[in-house]
Amino acid sequence: MKNVPADMEGFLSHQPWWRTRVPTEIIRSREGVGELLRRLERENRNPFFVVDSVLLNQPVFASLLGQKALYLFDASASEPKTGDVDTVVSMVKSASKAHDVVVGIGGGATMDLAKAVGICLANPGPAQTYQGYGLDMKKGADIWVLPTLSGTGAEITPIAVLRGPEKKLGINNPYTAPSVAVIDPGLTSGVRKYNRFFTLMDCYFHHYEIVNSRTSSEDAVSDARDGLSLSRNILMSGVGEFRMDNAVRSAMASILGGSSTIGGRVGAAHAVSYGLSNSGPALPHSVAVTISMLALRELYPEGYEDTVSFLRGNGMEVPKAGDFGIGAKDVEKMTKTALGMEKLWQSCFGDRWKERATEEYIREIYERIVSL
Ligand code: NAD
Ligand code: ZN
Repeated sequence: MKNVPADMEGFLSHQPWWRTRVPTEIIRSREGVGELLRRLERENRNPFFVVDSVLLNQPVFASLLGQKALYLFDASASEPKTGDVDTVVSMVKSASKAHDVVVGIGGGATMDLAKAVGICLANPGPAQTYQGYGLDMKKGADIWVLPTLSGTGAEITPIAVLRGPEKKLGINNPYTAPSVAVIDPGLTSGVRKYNRFFTLMDCYFHHYEIVNSRTSSEDAVSDARDGLSLSRNILMSGVGEFRMDNAVRSAMASILGGSSTIGGRVGAAHAVSYGLSNSGPALPHSVAVTISMLALRELYPEGYEDTVSFLRGNGMEVPKAGDFGIGAKDVEKMTKTALGMEKLWQSCFGDRWKERATEEYIREIYERIVSL
C-alpha cells in the first residue's frame, strides 16, 4: 500500500483504499460524534442509541448523555448475548414513535449488539433463532455505527456475533450490515493498552487467515494483504501509548478487515477459537484467537512467529486457556464445536479439507492448548 497516511489530514484526503464493494457508506471525520448527530438531525431520523457504557466518562462523548433513547452496554463485562438483543428490541419496540435507525457506538461488541437489534426489530423470534447462515430474515431498522475501538471490522461486516444459550455464533445476513459508518480514529484515544493490543491482534489474524485462504476472492485477498501489512507494522511499532499515526492506520486496517470479510473467509485459528469461546464465557474473542494461533505453529508458521514477536515486543503476557477456566474437561466439547466450522476448514485446507481437519487433528490441537 502506497502513501499510507500518518495523520488526520492524510486520512481525510486519502483515496478509498479498499477494493471490495462494501454496502456501507464510510464517512471519515475528525469530529465523529458531532458529525453523526448532525447527520441524524439533517435526515430527520428518530435514532435509538446503543452505547458502550465506558464512553460516558470521556468528555468527547458527553453529548450522547442527553439522548433519551439510549441503552448503555457494559462491553467490559461480556460479549453481547442473544438475551441482550431481546431486551433492547423490546425497549425499542415500546417507544411511542418508531425508531428508524439503531446507532451502535463502541467496539465490536457494542456495534454487534446494535446490528443484531436493528435486524431483529423486524423479525419476531428471539435472537437465538437467527444465529446462523442463510436464514430468511426481513430488513429491520437502518444500522449506523461509530467505532471507538479499531480492529474487528464490525463497522462494515454483515455479521453480528452473539453468545447464545447453546452456542456463540453470528447472525449472518446482508441486513445486519451497517448502512453508515462514521470513522474518527481520534475516538480510540481512551482505549486501554490491553484492548488496543488484542483487538488489533484480531485484525491481524483476520488478514493473515484471508491471505492464506483457499476460498477467498481476489479482491478480498488484496484487501487483506494491505490490512496485514498495516496491522503488522502497528503491532511491531508498539501499541503501548496512543499515537495518532497508529490510530489512523488501525482504522484503515479495520475497514480492510470488514471489506475483506465480505469476499473472504478466515480459517483454522478462528475455527479453533470458537471451540474455546464456547467453553470460556469470559474469554474475549481476540484472546481466544491468539491462544489458537499459538497452537498452530506448523500450519501457520509466519502467523505463529509474528504472534510471539507481537506479544514479546509489546510486553504482553502469553494468554493461556487455563486462565479462563478452560481445561482437559472441555476438550471433547471444543473438538465437536470446531469440527462444525466447516466453511473455515474449507477456507484453510481447500476442497479436500475433510482429509486434514479430522477429529483427531483438532482434538490434538486442544490437548496442546490445555496442557500449557
Ligand atoms: P469490545 O467491543 O469487546 O471492547 C473491548 C473493551 O474496550 C471493552 O471493555 C470496552 O468497554 C472498551 N472500549 C471500547 N472503546 C473504548 C474507548 N474508546 N475507550 C475506552 N475503552 C473502550 O472489543 P472489540 O475487540 O472491538 O470487539 C470484540 C467483539 O467483536 C467480540 O464480541 C467479537 O465476537 C466481535 N467481533 C465481531 C466481528 C464482526 O464482523 N461482527 C468481527 C470480529 C469480532
Ligand atoms: Zn476475529
